[in-house]
Amino acid sequence: MAGRILVVDDVATNRIVMKVKLTAACYTVEQAENGTEALKAARSLKPDLILLDVMMPDMSGLDVCRALKKDPETADIPVVLITALTDRSAKMDGLEAGADDFLTKPVEEVTLLARVRSLLRTSDSVKELRGRGDTVSAFGFAEAALGFEGKTHPGRVALVAPGPRGAVLWKAAIDARTGTNVEIISKDNALSQNAQDANTPDVFVISVDLSQRNEGLRLLSDLRSRPGTRHAACVMILPKGDSERAAIALDLGASDVLHDPFDAEELAIRISAQLDRKRQFDRMREGVRASIEASITDPLTGLYNRRFALHRMEQMIARPGAGLAVMMIDLDYFKSVNDTFGHAAGDTVLQEVATRLRGQLQANDLLARIGGEEFLVALTGASVHTAKQCAERLRSCIGGTSFDLGGDTFPIRVTASVGLALPEGLEDISSITPEALIHKADTALYGAKAHGRNQVSHICGAAA
Ligand code: GH3
Ligand code: MG
Ligand code: MG
Repeated sequence: MAGRILVVDDVATNRIVMKVKLTAACYTVEQAENGTEALKAARSLKPDLILLDVMMPDMSGLDVCRALKKDPETADIPVVLITALTDRSAKMDGLEAGADDFLTKPVEEVTLLARVRSLLRTSDSVKELRGRGDTVSAFGFAEAALGFEGKTHPGRVALVAPGPRGAVLWKAAIDARTGTNVEIISKDNALSQNAQDANTPDVFVISVDLSQRNEGLRLLSDLRSRPGTRHAACVMILPKGDSERAAIALDLGASDVLHDPFDAEELAIRISAQLDRKRQFDRMREGVRASIEASITDPLTGLYNRRFALHRMEQMIARPGAGLAVMMIDLDYFKSVNDTFGHAAGDTVLQEVATRLRGQLQANDLLARIGGEEFLVALTGASVHTAKQCAERLRSCIGGTSFDLGGDTFPIRVTASVGLALPEGLEDISSITPEALIHKADTALYGAKAHGRNQVSHICGAAA
């Protein structure tokens, strides 16, 4: 995974040393010697990562970092601040300014490269999620993702420490500074978290050694591979100077590493940063999921739409020997419902029809709203007899009970006509298209309308 890295430093020697290290690891290196140039280069070159010196004559690295994170064009680019050992407050300010990380001069090569790999991996995921979001919004469904913003919770942090003493001290340090609820849990507890549980931790803080050496590293790999915890952030705590295992932890997917004894404030800030990032990822994933759902769903009734129905029917047709019965259900004289009671009342009827139809069908039957007051049902594996019975049930669940519109209006009677297309027995339908089956069901539906409505009409066999 190569990438383009922008190195910003006012001292030429520092830039060259960094360039040599990064070029040897096959990264493309760009350079900027001050803040103004850095901002220009970030916009024009769109690097995958920026290594940013804090002390520069024209503009401090912190200001550059703030400007980068404020500009939507550059906000997603990870920034690593490079600070002198004594710059404690600069580190804190840097993380608060939105820096994704900081490294201390002189930068150890193994740490540098592991951090770079880890941040590039994260930024790849951001790009992919943004790309997927853009693809679905190109179809015109971006608004579905809205509404999720703001649904934030304070964040759940779980601590897995070797013994109760350390755990309690760490908990106190994090609790006091992040305002989050920190829970001390065992390794087994961490592994038993499942994806459906709303209380799954957002961040795990794990000691590299638990009851056995490297047990924390094994736990990290395990958490990364499980659906329930795959998206949680993991911060590893390692003994001071253990940069080799820190690099291993980052390569195993740790979101961050910290050395013990650590600065409690730094841990708290890093955890807050991980919580923010996790929330951003959750929002993006939820946006993609909601957009995909919106692209296959009818917003009024929550049923599948025509696009999804055609796709699903293709799959049903491809299943050998299963047979397929298709029904078109059209409400009778529905225009007069709107004309008499108003469009909103019409909408209420459509929603209630959807609920009633769904109540008559099984989970693997297809039910979709494919037109204004037209619904489609497709059943696999049903005999001619069963399909006819089902069609009759669907007709009568609409026409048999009147619809309550609320308010002062009397309940009204709405009926439906059903056209049923049945392949004779289990004849081979693999060469039939969904459109052809719908056309057959439509032809049957015309028959039901022509014969007086509120009835089922059917057509059997491919010849029909
Ligand atoms: P027929 O028995 O021949 O099917 O008569 P019909 O009145 O049901 O058929 P027509 O196709 O003439 O009218 C369908 C009506 O469905 C017209 C339209 O206003 C109404 N309709 C379509 N989509 C919606 C919707 O989303 N909400 C509401 N309230 N009405 C809708
Ligand atoms: Mg109608
Ligand atoms: Mg119609």
